[in-house]
Amino acid sequence: MEYKYCSKLSKYERFKTINVKVGNSSIGGEQPIQIQSMTDTDTLDTQASVNQCIKIFNVGADFVRLTVQTIRHAENLKNIKESLRKKGYNQPIIADVHFNPKVAEIAAGIVEKVRINPGNFVDRNNPSEKSYTEGEFISELKKIDLKFSNLIKICKKYKTALRIGSNHGSLSNRIVDRYGDTPIGMVESVMEFLRVAQKEDFHQIVISLKSSNTRVMVYAYRLLMNKMLLSGMNYPIHLGVTEAGDGEDGRIKSTIGISSLLIDGIGDTIRVSLTEDPEKEIPVAQKIVGYINQKKKHQTFNYQVNTSNNPFIYKKRETYNQTGIGSENVPIVIADLSIKNELTEADLINLSYKYNKNDRQWTRGDLSPDFLFIGNSKYESFDTNGLKLISNYYSPEKNTDVYPIFCSLGNYLNSGEKSNNLNFIAVSNNIKTIELLKSLKKDKTIVLILKSENNNSYADKRAFINWLINENLKFPVISFNKYNDIITEDFQVKSAADNGPLLIDGLIDGIMLKIENKKTTSRQNLLLKNSMNISFGILQASRSRITKTEYISCPSCGRTLFDIQMVTKEIKEKTNHLKGVKIGIMGCIVNGPGEMADADFGYVGTGIGKVSLYKSMDIVKKNIPSENAVSELILLIKKNGAWIEKKT
Ligand code: SF4
Repeated sequence: MEYKYCSKLSKYERFKTINVKVGNSSIGGEQPIQIQSMTDTDTLDTQASVNQCIKIFNVGADFVRLTVQTIRHAENLKNIKESLRKKGYNQPIIADVHFNPKVAEIAAGIVEKVRINPGNFVDRNNPSEKSYTEGEFISELKKIDLKFSNLIKICKKYKTALRIGSNHGSLSNRIVDRYGDTPIGMVESVMEFLRVAQKEDFHQIVISLKSSNTRVMVYAYRLLMNKMLLSGMNYPIHLGVTEAGDGEDGRIKSTIGISSLLIDGIGDTIRVSLTEDPEKEIPVAQKIVGYINQKKKHQTFNYQVNTSNNPFIYKKRETYNQTGIGSENVPIVIADLSIKNELTEADLINLSYKYNKNDRQWTRGDLSPDFLFIGNSKYESFDTNGLKLISNYYSPEKNTDVYPIFCSLGNYLNSGEKSNNLNFIAVSNNIKTIELLKSLKKDKTIVLILKSENNNSYADKRAFINWLINENLKFPVISFNKYNDIITEDFQVKSAADNGPLLIDGLIDGIMLKIENKKTTSRQNLLLKNSMNISFGILQASRSRITKTEYISCPSCGRTLFDIQMVTKEIKEKTNHLKGVKIGIMGCIVNGPGEMADADFGYVGTGIGKVSLYKSMDIVKKNIPSENAVSELILLIKKNGAWIEKKT
């Protein structure tokens, strides 16, 4: 029980939660996973809010949430709801409330569900309050008890559901003071409210624990599940990654966080938060849920419990360091060019390699693969200095940076053409593989390319790696996945769901994504380039290898008073060469600074035409005109030594 956080790791099984009624719908129990989004309109603007709700419902959302800042906003929910009903939209709407219990009470009398943030429902984030005595701590808990009980009474009267939604970036000072800015703090923040709800015998509750850091998010939800299991609770779970950003990075980050939990049967409703129009979130959410649903009926696989694994903290699996792969090295990326008859210079340029004629050497770009698997392709027609090739035709005397690959362990054992440094061997999860690997335990040249034909390839691979851990077999593992030619968004979702969870748990040492396409060279090149961007995106979003600038940008809501999509685009264009720098772009001063807690620099909207700039959590420029704000942000990055000039 110490580490239990879901029903089963050996077989897909959705964790059985209670069913919480939300208007004419519900969350949890037997209900399929529900999908939701949030408006970015001003909730006082009835027409704009209704129009946007309709757009979101029309693409398939089950619920829509609206931000509710003041009593006037709360009261206007009535007009929005009535207008939606008149137009035939009967889906539940949800109020999102921060800082003001009174606003939550009014909203609870109008809409079907209210979200409160335990970090600011009663507590205030006053930086001067650095630490709390036991007496002060208890006195705050009493205030929570009183105010939350009042809200519960109203929810009982109107049959309104509640979400207790904790965010990593907006934990109260009181919680941070006692538990730190940690997954444990996030869980405790929720548990305080759950205890009040239990005392009031109120159970129409859904829980969330979001973070923009996928590792923190996954560990927090697992901890919560463990805590609920120990306490005999089973409230439905709302999943989401906050401030995931936009485009490819936003999709990959959201998929990794959400699918890491859905695949273990955790999650009853999801929201993908993108800095894009809210209706664009729905197809991504549908794809994530659809892909996980496909995995439900999977074949059985060999499974062993890894008792040494603590699922609530990050720990990289201990492996040998095989020529820069495994151990403390960052996970590698292998490109699969085996479809080509002959490797050409154009293929390498497509993958962002650069050739220096003077020293006759290829060098990698930030998003070039570490190794190229070329299968049977010829590569003799030009210089391959600086490249690391994996070839079916290995000849030790020819080139030191060409390594062999074996289609099975038997093949490896019987071959006379092994490398003294590095041998790649394709394996899958079965007892014969483990028995042979045991006999090769001391061979420090082996890197395993792990394949799986199982519908739930992730769980099958995790089981195999657990087995390696239990047998103390320290061979590095590269996760291999093959996909048919699919549209980019599908590829982003599937590859992130298949590999992200393994990286979140520190179980693999690299990834290799193959997309099958035999049609045209130009399509093949495009897919190869995409597969590199996505591979490095997966490593970055799982915090395993940083190769790009990271943007922590909020999806915006009614509190946002500027065009956040346009500003994000402008900041990205100017800063996307700053490898490893984290930039927060947040819609409002109320929640923005807290939510971007992880960022190195922040751009936060503070009013119409006004922006404040942050260095980590410290405000350094207050309320500057928005026309100069991006230039000022760049100056701030320069002043702090994090700027490099863009290479032309
Ligand atoms: S940071 Fe502010 S503007 Fe952005 S989504 Fe959160 S509450 Fe809305």
